[in-house]
Amino acid sequence: MAAIIEFKNVNKYYGKLHALKNINLSIEEGQVVSIIGPSGSGKSTLIRTMNGLEKINSGQLIVTGYDIADKKTDLNKIRKNVGMVFQHFNLYENHTVLENITLAPKIVLHRDNEENHQIAMDLLKKVGLADKADYYPRQLSGGQKQRVAIARSLAMKPKAILFDEPTSALDPEMIQDVLNVMKLVADEGLTMVVVTHEMGFAREVGNRVIFFDGGEVIEDEKPDVFFDNPKSERARQFLSKVI
Ligand code: ADP
Ligand code: MG
Repeated sequence: MAAIIEFKNVNKYYGKLHALKNINLSIEEGQVVSIIGPSGSGKSTLIRTMNGLEKINSGQLIVTGYDIADKKTDLNKIRKNVGMVFQHFNLYENHTVLENITLAPKIVLHRDNEENHQIAMDLLKKVGLADKADYYPRQLSGGQKQRVAIARSLAMKPKAILFDEPTSALDPEMIQDVLNVMKLVADEGLTMVVVTHEMGFAREVGNRVIFFDGGEVIEDEKPDVFFDNPKSERARQFLSKVI
């Protein structure tokens, strides 16, 4: 299997705080990786380094063939390949749902208008929001906004999508709709890295669990192995609180 994201001895500091401690991690094409761990452990920092939203201080991080730390690397090339879905959706509030999805393919990929529209409408169907194409984000629920954000990411035909707590800001009844869409995407074989507190997703949809604590990878296992038999005391304690 080919690595699509590869960390080699990566360190990251915020001032004196050592947020990522000598990370060695290789994410392969098609994997659905759940990153779980306590608040403040560095999960967002880890995932945000993967498309250059946070800089690393040392080590090497190769993403879809590009060296993130190399000043000559154009981060836009990486962001074309690797999408990101945020906890708070980050939709363009002054654009319709359809425009949210067509904007980047038009500007960045110069996709033909008709094809762009068709791809966007197909994606809206897929996430169950074809009837909301002309709505503005403020007219949608949180769960609907997040499904638009996922469709927007998919429209770029990325090689991987990063999700940072995509359901944490949602009311409970909307979480499942978003998780169902994520499962659909996973089933199509897209590489996904998902910071999540949804243990059901991590266990049933993901095929790898990384337990992160104190800026370090503590466990890296297949879901069943991790959930049935966590090796570290820290993971056992964490699981006893969240399950
Ligand atoms: P998590 O996503 O697991 O909650 P974060 O990656 O957000 O953890 O944070 C890891 C640590 O880094 C925390 O101690 C947090 O306070 C700190 N941190 C995160 N972002 C910044 C920042 N921009 N400046 C300074 N410290 C930060
Ligand atoms: Mg976080």
